Amino acid sequence: MTETALTVHQTARPHGFPTPDHFAFVESAVPVPGRGTALVENLYWSVDPYHREMMDGDFALDAPLEGRTIGRVVDSRDPALREGAIVLHRLGWRTHAVVAPGQARAVPHFDGVPLSAHLSILGGTGLTAYVGLTRIAELREGQDVFVSAAAGGVGTATGRLARLMGAGRLVGSTGRTAKAAHLMEHVGYDEVFDYHAGPVAELLAAAAPDGIDLFVDNVGGEHLEAAISSLRAYGRIVRIGTIAQYNSTGTPHALRNLPDIVEKSLRMEGFLVRNHTGVQQELYEFVVPHLQSGRLTLDETVVDGFDAIVDAFLGMLRGENLGKIVVRATGVTGADG
Ligand code: NAP
Repeated sequence: MTETALTVHQTARPHGFPTPDHFAFVESAVPVPGRGTALVENLYWSVDPYHREMMDGDFALDAPLEGRTIGRVVDSRDPALREGAIVLHRLGWRTHAVVAPGQARAVPHFDGVPLSAHLSILGGTGLTAYVGLTRIAELREGQDVFVSAAAGGVGTATGRLARLMGAGRLVGSTGRTAKAAHLMEHVGYDEVFDYHAGPVAELLAAAAPDGIDLFVDNVGGEHLEAAISSLRAYGRIVRIGTIAQYNSTGTPHALRNLPDIVEKSLRMEGFLVRNHTGVQQELYEFVVPHLQSGRLTLDETVVDGFDAIVDAFLGMLRGENLGKIVVRATGVTGADG
């Protein structure tokens, strides 16, 4: 084990897109666990769009940043935290964390499933997609679905799960043409458009000329307005996120077709995945057999080295990831854990 620990702090509030100057890597001695705690050496970190939202005020400045993290217990002073165990915690952007039993849960081992999956399809990202489809949308076989930010973590998971659940036509949007090809060749989307290519309403109308039953929205703004126009009567909108707004300094896009929600009897509902952790076991039971059979494969961008965590986060905001972005400690391989 190394003798030095690294922690990332936010040092200033961004106006618009953050830059590396809004962060600092802070070095310290590896912490020593006290009674009733354990030292975890971290292996994988999740960087997420909600971190950008927290940078506006929820993250304290000059303090460690929270986030979903997987690590190995290397020194334990509590019988509930066995040395060698792989655990998931939320203490975030640091190489080492001291955790109490209530702050960490054991990560279940599934044969043939890499650890990173517990931050992607089996983690909060996959749970968001699963809850959105099963609890909020109540997807039924044959229904036509449009997903915004389809090439991201939630978007790829939504596409793959919707396919397995028997969705009809699957349409997605992304910011890069190369990602569209992956979505259609590998994830199961029927049509994907680059939202930079024109007004989203026109692009969606061309991609789904007969309309859609369901919109899973990771973006908001112009995408939401376009979907309202394309939805059939009694259609549903699952609001997951509003990434179009997180880095924007302009006025948010105003929805001009709100009357359509009434005229077409549409239903719109948002949710926070943290209020649905009771569905985690069901997610494992649904997804793991498909992962083990090879019917479901992982969409992940894995970035190596804790020192790349800030760049990975900023790259994700710019759309450089395909699937869920995770950061992996140097020297860890997909087979570890
Ligand atoms: P992600 O989609 O893997 O990464 C973000 C993606 O957003 C980028 O790759 C980029 O892809 C796209 N993007 C960036 N700026 C955009 C813009 N201005 N307009 C359209 N697309 C833009 O991230 P994720 O973790 O899966 O999260 C996706 C959404 O779900 C976010 O809004 C997040 O806040 C939300 N979320 C909500 C919950 C919940 O509990 N409700 C849980 C998890 C995530 P392109 O290259 O395709 O533009």
